[in-house]
Amino acid sequence: MNRSRVAVLCASFGLLAAASLTRTVHADDISERARKLHFSSIVLDTHDDTTQRFFSKEYDLGKRNPDGHVDIPRMREGGMNAIFFSIWIDGRIMGPPAVQKALDQIDAVHENVKKYSNDMVFARTADDVRRAHAQGKIAALMGVEGGHMIGNDIRIVRIFADLGVRYMTLSHFYNDEWADSSTDKPVHNGLTDFGKEIVREMNRQGMIVDISHVSDKTFYDALEVSKAPLIASHSSCRALCNHPRDMSDDMIKALAAKGGVIQINYERSFIDEAYRVASDKETGGVVARIGDLEKKCNNDEACVGREMAKIQKKLTDEGKLPHVSWERIIDHIDHAVKLVGADHVGLGSDFDGADMPEGMEDCSKLPKISEALLRKGYSESDIKKILGENTLRVMEQVERVSKEMQ
Ligand SMILES: [Zn+2]
Repeated sequence: MNRSRVAVLCASFGLLAAASLTRTVHADDISERARKLHFSSIVLDTHDDTTQRFFSKEYDLGKRNPDGHVDIPRMREGGMNAIFFSIWIDGRIMGPPAVQKALDQIDAVHENVKKYSNDMVFARTADDVRRAHAQGKIAALMGVEGGHMIGNDIRIVRIFADLGVRYMTLSHFYNDEWADSSTDKPVHNGLTDFGKEIVREMNRQGMIVDISHVSDKTFYDALEVSKAPLIASHSSCRALCNHPRDMSDDMIKALAAKGGVIQINYERSFIDEAYRVASDKETGGVVARIGDLEKKCNNDEACVGREMAKIQKKLTDEGKLPHVSWERIIDHIDHAVKLVGADHVGLGSDFDGADMPEGMEDCSKLPKISEALLRKGYSESDIKKILGENTLRVMEQVERVSKEMQ
């Protein structure tokens, strides 16, 4: 090797070393900024199925549990300081038993929040959430996941609202008496007249209309009827993963045009197209799989979760299901932000109710989202909106509409 070539090589190594040093310093700076930003923000997750676990003797909200996705220690670790506990029962249960079971869960949420009142406080309004944050407490909210739980009785909407329920998803996996679901054969052509009355009553009661799970026609009907912005409490983008539980670009645009927010769901089958296709082929898809397991587990959701994880691990180990990285969550956030702006995107993990992608094993991993967005060049104020401020804005708008309708 001649001397000049050695000199060139040395110079190149020097430049490379300098460049990598700059990158390290820069990266550390971003990590630190992301942590500060994340842990000073209101991080509000609009959909967590942790409520189901309150009925299990093995689970304790106040302790670090070896399984599942959410408990107070891991919420603290992940900076998640506002949570919508989902009130959910199988969508095939209807009438008075559905109301009864929903009330059991509403009671379980209130009791658990009281039990851990040093860490948690129940919240009904956006102001309550801000107050909880100022006190260093986790704000606990409730959403009813499926219109079947009102037992086809509009008065139950008012009772749920009085008990502190702040959103209701119009259907779950199956059609209910007045709304078509995205994963069932349509029978109502969207919302029935009674369904439209329910939406207006929800507006009057200050309950957010949630259009996750509903058919596209139900979504457009609800959007037309509602006087307040809507949310999709846990849905992702169909343009990236073609699942009926996700929203098309046109739907996301229509939702945003009315001030609403799409809260990105982390379920593997909803964020990764290759996984969705393989999962459909192997097990008939996530909806069929959950349906089968609910029967097998007699609606014990902890059992459904365990069985789901077992099946998914086995199929992944056998190479029948592809690996899915947590970074797909960022792709969905970014797609929605590029489509409608940062004012209309939020987080609706589906923790304790879905298969989490690798790297997002539980809520303690949430700071990674803030860091990834900061690295992508998102502004701090946009990240704060996505973490929680957008949902608070919708809550405030819904509260205003409710006051006007009294
Ligand atoms: Zn759901």
